[in-house]
Amino acid sequence: MNISKNIIVGAGLTGTTLAYKIATELDEKVLVIDKRPHIAGNCYDEFDSEGLYLKKYGPHIFHTNDKKVWDFLSQFTNWHPFFLKTEAFIDGNLVNIPFNFDSIEKCFPKTLATRLEEKLLEKYEYNSRISISQLLEQDDKDLKFLANYIYENVFKNYTEKQWGIKAEKVDKSVLTRVPILISRDKRYFQDRYQAIPQYGYTAMIEKMLDHPNIELILNTKFDKKTHKAERLIFTGCIDEFFDYKYGKLPYRSLAFKFQKFDKEFCKDTSIVNYPNEYDFTRITEFKHFLDLKSEKTIIATEYPQHYEPGKNEPYYPIANKENHDLLAKYQTEAKNIDGLIIAGRLGEYKYYNIDAAVARALELFDKEVLNEFFKEKNNFGYSCR
Ligand code: UDP
Repeated sequence: MNISKNIIVGAGLTGTTLAYKIATELDEKVLVIDKRPHIAGNCYDEFDSEGLYLKKYGPHIFHTNDKKVWDFLSQFTNWHPFFLKTEAFIDGNLVNIPFNFDSIEKCFPKTLATRLEEKLLEKYEYNSRISISQLLEQDDKDLKFLANYIYENVFKNYTEKQWGIKAEKVDKSVLTRVPILISRDKRYFQDRYQAIPQYGYTAMIEKMLDHPNIELILNTKFDKKTHKAERLIFTGCIDEFFDYKYGKLPYRSLAFKFQKFDKEFCKDTSIVNYPNEYDFTRITEFKHFLDLKSEKTIIATEYPQHYEPGKNEPYYPIANKENHDLLAKYQTEAKNIDGLIIAGRLGEYKYYNIDAAVARALELFDKEVLNEFFKEKNNFGYSCR
C-alpha cells in the first residue's frame, strides 16, 4: 500500500500554511487534496471575464495585530491597504457600524445625542471599545435607553437571521466581535495591520503552494481507505472525519445572490448590513476592496442558512455547551490516533478569523509537527496502528 509522508486535507489557509511549513522547514513531501475545484477554501476569490473582483463565499478582510502572521503572509503577497467601513440600514438611515458617536448623532435628535455622548464619556475613556453586553448592564436611564436601542436595532434581528436562533441563545463571544466605539472611529476593525492581498487571496495561497515538495490535487474527496499518510492533517469538519459516529455537529452556512450592474457603484461602502428589514443580513460590493476601476460592479446579497453536508458549505461553528460536549467526544478520539492533526475553523470548531487561523496553524506546526519530528517516532501511518 502507498503511504504518503504527509497528506493535508483542505487547501484553505490552515492547510496551506501547514503545507508550506512542512515543505520548507522539514523538507518533506506534502500532498494537499481538496474536494473543491479550487484552492483557498472560503477565502477563494476570482476576477470575472470583465476583470471584476468577486468572492464566491462572501467578504474576507484581513486584519491583525499579530506581526508574526503579517510577516508570514507578506512573503506571498503585496498588500492593498484597506480599512473596512460598514454601514447598517437603521430606521431609514445608513449608520456606521460599529455604532459610534456619528451613529448616535444620525439616530437621535441633537440634544439627546449630546447627552448620550456626555454620559458615555463619564463612564468610559474616549477611544475605548465596549461590548453591547457591557452597555446593557448600565443602570443610568439614558445609557440603558441607548443600550436597548442598539441591541434592538443593530444586534437582535441580525443575530437571529445569522444564527437561526433567539439572540439570547447565541454565545456572548459572537456579539462581542462587533464593539461599540466611544469615538468617531469609523473602522470596523481597530487592528494595526489591515489589508487585502493585492492580487487576491487565491493568488497569495497559490504562491504558498508553489513549492517542489508540494503536490496539489483538486476535485478529490478525502477517503480514509486510499489516502494513507504518516502524518495526516485534516482541516474539514471534525464530525465528518469520524463519519458522524457521535452525531452531527451543527455548522452555519450562507447562500449568496450575485448581481452585476452596468453602473460604476451600487453602494458607498463595501458592506451594508440590513439588521431589521428583509431576510438577508448584508450586501457586499466587492470592487471597493481593491479599489478597482470599472464601469460595472458586482454585489452579493447574503442569506444565512443551515449547513447541510453535500448541499452547501460549512462556514461557522456554533458555540454552545451541547455542541462543545459533542466536539469533546470527537477530540478525544482524534487524540488517540497517532499522526493525526485536526485543524482549522471547521476542524477545531472555533470561530477563527483569518489571522487567528494562520497563527494557530503556525503554532500547530511548532507544537505538534516539529515536536513529533524531533521525537523521530517510528510512525507507520495514522490508521495502521
Ligand atoms: N452582528 C450584528 N449586527 C451587525 C453586525 C454583526 O448583530 O450589524 C452580530 C451577528 O451576531 C454576527 C456577529 O455580530 O454574527 C459577528 O459579526 P461579524 O461581522 O464578525 O461576522 P462575520 O463577518 O464573521 O460573519
